[in-house]
Amino acid sequence: MTKHLKLYIDGEWLDSVNPDRQEVINPANQEVIAQAPQATKEETEKAIRIARSTFESGIWSEQTPGERAEVLYQIANKIEAHAEELTELEVLNNGKTIREAEADVADALHTFRYYAGLLQNQTDETFEAEKDLQTMIVKEPMGVAGLIVPWNFPILMSVWKIAPALAAGNSIILKPAEITPMTAVKLYELFEQTDLPKGVAQLVLGTGAVAGQTLSESKDVDIVSFTGSTKVGQQIMQAAAGNLKKVSLELGGKSPNIVFNDADIDLAVDYGLFGIFMGAGQVCTSGSRLLIQEDIYETFVEKFIEKAKAIRVGPGNDKASEMGAIVSNKHMDSIMEYIQIGKEEGAHLVLGGKRIEKDGLEKGFFIEPTVFTNVTSDMRIVREEIFGPVIVIQTFKDEEEAIHVANDTDYGLAGAVFSTDQAKAVRVIKKVRAGITWVNNYHLSSVQSPWGGYKTSGIGRSLGKYGLDEYQETKQINISMNPERSDWFDGEK
Ligand code: NAD
Repeated sequence: MTKHLKLYIDGEWLDSVNPDRQEVINPANQEVIAQAPQATKEETEKAIRIARSTFESGIWSEQTPGERAEVLYQIANKIEAHAEELTELEVLNNGKTIREAEADVADALHTFRYYAGLLQNQTDETFEAEKDLQTMIVKEPMGVAGLIVPWNFPILMSVWKIAPALAAGNSIILKPAEITPMTAVKLYELFEQTDLPKGVAQLVLGTGAVAGQTLSESKDVDIVSFTGSTKVGQQIMQAAAGNLKKVSLELGGKSPNIVFNDADIDLAVDYGLFGIFMGAGQVCTSGSRLLIQEDIYETFVEKFIEKAKAIRVGPGNDKASEMGAIVSNKHMDSIMEYIQIGKEEGAHLVLGGKRIEKDGLEKGFFIEPTVFTNVTSDMRIVREEIFGPVIVIQTFKDEEEAIHVANDTDYGLAGAVFSTDQAKAVRVIKKVRAGITWVNNYHLSSVQSPWGGYKTSGIGRSLGKYGLDEYQETKQINISMNPERSDWFDGEK
């Protein structure tokens, strides 16, 4: 039965007055799984008003860190208890594999626990600035946080924002991507079963153009934290300028994965595959450009293709599937268009390149693992984020050229180096202009580590203590221990 989703404002599930609905589908077979409302501007503004008033009431913002941490632990425990259901929903709605969704749900609950712990460990600074002047540096919540997330990691991207924003004491409005609201709705149902006060967390399902834009523009929102494309990130920054609200932007990438001739080739092939085909390449940090040192190029490409060819593509809910579906018809078309562009630009298509329409996959959005070689740095498939299972393989002569090619991009999100010469690997990775980097692995990261990009890949950092900082104001309080008049205007000079 198709589920009718609702907005969640001030602790109530509400229908939108807008008769337009977004069909939510399973990308593995196009079955409609839900109808989602598309909140109006007025409904989004109501959600903001409620968030503002609960923030100002202090019911959450003035709880002690210990009290807020307790609620975050409750949420984590609820996620843990419903992990299987959340995993199934994520697979159903996003098309990713069970293994990937399980990891996302585990990461989500761990993120709540991490911020609960961090919150209780955050101690303010205090020092004697001058004789009898005691200064305290305190952290305070920003106020109202608008959280806008994409479709590729629906639960995880939501939680990476919700957990630190709530930990800091803010009231929040979450806007999931139009096409992947299922796990966000479930998450809010779980919030209801905890001691999170009513009206602290709202859920607005709606379009970017209306709900997203309203959050970004509103003078009552103090921070917009956005994960998504660079183009929309730029629009959000402009909209946010009205009240100079803080913006935190986690954007796209075209990340280089550099393999030197002294690398363990099997290891580099293994992580090269994981780097691009995990999540069917719909991952912001995907290693979508492989840079191979000339003298190992042929051996590497041969091994890489042999393994890529063997990847089992299929519905996420089939445990045998290693790579799932593309999230939507529209996005599949966009990837297929890039594959066509690559061919027209003269790159060699050495593997894949087609939609898979057999063996029961006809109704879903599946694309073969795709590899292009003989590319040049001016090609669009080398410069632009494709966000699909498509990799371009480039070559380089030496260390200097590797660094140059790696940094020859407007993006700066992620990058990796493979080499058995540790000194060289570290030297090179330090020169890669990106925020999330790896040596002899790909995609391994933890909740403690700051997540974000250089250049057009974003502003600010999620996760770790940096992620909590994003949602906090910092205040100095100067206390006279032995108050005396200043006599600045004593009228006697
Ligand atoms: P998108 O930018 O199209 O949409 C993301 C969100 O923004 C959606 O909720 C959408 O409704 C909303 N939105 C759209 N227009 C808006 C507007 N004018 N104002 C406010 N909100 C608006 O991105 P997508 O297609 O959902 O996701 C893919 C992109 O996300 C890729 O570029 C990927 O690299 C990026 N991404 C980055 C990270 C990271 O951590 N850096 C993580 C995941 C995804």
